[in-house]
Amino acid sequence: YVIQLCLPLNSLGFVYRESRDALVNTEKLFQLLRETPEVPEPPGLPDLHVAKGEVVFENVSFGYEPGRTILHNVSFRIAPGTTVAVVGGSGSGKSTLARLLLRFYDVGGGRVLVDGQDIRSVSTRSLRAAIGVVPQETLLFNDTIAYNIGYGRSDATMDDIVAAAKAAHIHELIESLPQKYDTPVGERGVKMSGGEKQRIALARAILKNPPLLIFDEATSALDSQSERAIQDELDQLSQNRTALVIAHRLSTVVDAGEILVMDRGRIIERGPHAELLRKGGAYARLWQLQQSSEHSEEREKELLSVG
Ligand code: ADP
Ligand code: MG
Repeated sequence: YVIQLCLPLNSLGFVYRESRDALVNTEKLFQLLRETPEVPEPPGLPDLHVAKGEVVFENVSFGYEPGRTILHNVSFRIAPGTTVAVVGGSGSGKSTLARLLLRFYDVGGGRVLVDGQDIRSVSTRSLRAAIGVVPQETLLFNDTIAYNIGYGRSDATMDDIVAAAKAAHIHELIESLPQKYDTPVGERGVKMSGGEKQRIALARAILKNPPLLIFDEATSALDSQSERAIQDELDQLSQNRTALVIAHRLSTVVDAGEILVMDRGRIIERGPHAELLRKGGAYARLWQLQQSSEHSEEREKELLSVG
């Protein structure tokens, strides 16, 4: 029963990331689950077999509704153990890529392949079991912290959970709470900040130890100092893993093997950071823009601390 719940729950961070309150009670949770899009699946599909962990989007087109195409002929490859980063304006289709890889929707045209297997030809359960997700907004259950860290892995021991929490730098905070790992969180428990919830999500992903990772603006809820700290942990987690990293801050993608720049459902530029800067196109303009706004933010802070 619990395990059945776990798989679709990974999607909620994406589908309902706009929802203001990421802490849901059980009733609301079931309501959300009912609304979670699920693709129909014939019985008896074989499990996904992940060997190297290659992800390929091949001429993918997609629309949520007929008559409105959201992705136009998108192709890219994430080589095993490497990171592809996606940047672009809001509504350009970045999260849609993640939803398609998790198979919350089926492509309209083209294919999504993991290690050569069309994801429509394998069980969705096995596909999602292979992917760790750190979403923009983390959903916490009205249950204990231990449950919230461990729910992606029904066989996790308490030692596993503590080790994951340590790796996500949330262990000390948990130890300071009255009931430690048994402390209830959620509406009737301890409230956690956006950054703390993201650390819980990170601990979940670490515990799950998946070959594939998706970060969808995983540090957007944090101030720049916590962002840098958690970014280091995300970088570490994605070492030698295949990762799709959606970023709203360009500073988090400079090291990606390839950066895709999306605009209205199309990849308009691609390449590593330095190459895209040299090119002087859309990415270079975005970079300039963010550099200057970050500088002015810092200047503002300096002025405030002096004044
Ligand atoms: P991004 O992550 O780049 O901000 P998304 O991939 O979330 O963009 O969305 C791309 C486009 O698809 C947007 O125009 C958005 O309004 C639309 N869209 C997203 N989810 C849905 C949905 N469930 N139904 C209909 N349209 C959607
Ligand atoms: Mg998005």
